[in-house]
Amino acid sequence: MPGVFQLSVDEMLDRELDRLRALGLGSVLLFGLPAEKDEVGLENFAAEGIVQQALRRIRERMPDMLLLTDVCCCEYTSHGHCGILTPDGVVDNDATLEVLGRVAVSHAEAGADVVAPSGMMDGMVGAIRGALDAAGHADRAILSYAVKYASAFYGPFREAADSTPAFGDRRQYQMDPGNVREALIEAALDEDEGADMLMVKPALAYLDVLRAVRERSELPLVAYNVSGEYAMVKAAARQGWIDERRVVLESLLGMRRAGADAIITYHAKDVAQWLSDGTAD
Ligand SMILES: [Zn+2]
Repeated sequence: MPGVFQLSVDEMLDRELDRLRALGLGSVLLFGLPAEKDEVGLENFAAEGIVQQALRRIRERMPDMLLLTDVCCCEYTSHGHCGILTPDGVVDNDATLEVLGRVAVSHAEAGADVVAPSGMMDGMVGAIRGALDAAGHADRAILSYAVKYASAFYGPFREAADSTPAFGDRRQYQMDPGNVREALIEAALDEDEGADMLMVKPALAYLDVLRAVRERSELPLVAYNVSGEYAMVKAAARQGWIDERRVVLESLLGMRRAGADAIITYHAKDVAQWLSDGTAD
């Protein structure tokens, strides 16, 4: 996608951080692309894994940057699913929880402030909370992808992260787009398990869900403005069919109005630039 790049953990990462700092952005969400993938995703919880290296480098250069990490299996597993598979090729929920706990602890040890489990496994928040606390990281927070729909809007990200499932799809664990009551149940479960923040993903086609969760929970709520939403805006803007600035700002405003306290978006750098140069009006 335009403006979106994979970074290596070297001067390239440093330059990106300098740019974020110059724009006044104070937090990043890291996703890893391992050198090798395998059935379990061993690099996912390795001390020298790509995310762990990046965390240490950022933490050293910018101690006050808020560091969030994606915690899932799909970018690390050879089959591209969000969990460990049984011999029959379905996700083994409980075996996956153990791996997620190890990943979260390894991220905390490398400097993550917030871990964000995105795989929609049952019990993932409780398992991660337990693992973090047992390892002495009671002070690290969990942002749960509590409400994540099986959506066509994730397409561009899967290309970028090379994480399209090798077979099947993610409907075993992601939610049915027609169902809003399940979203409330999932959000309540994650809150009970100790989530510190909740997320709804995607954002624009699910603003009613964002509002519904907002009305049931006092936790900070995050909207994830996903890759397909970004790609559509960029493509239309390139064609000269829309005013990119106004469309982006209006979309993000809609997410805020629906109840988001924070927004994860690929537009972040553009928006920060517009706000700082006064062209956001
Ligand atoms: Zn995943």
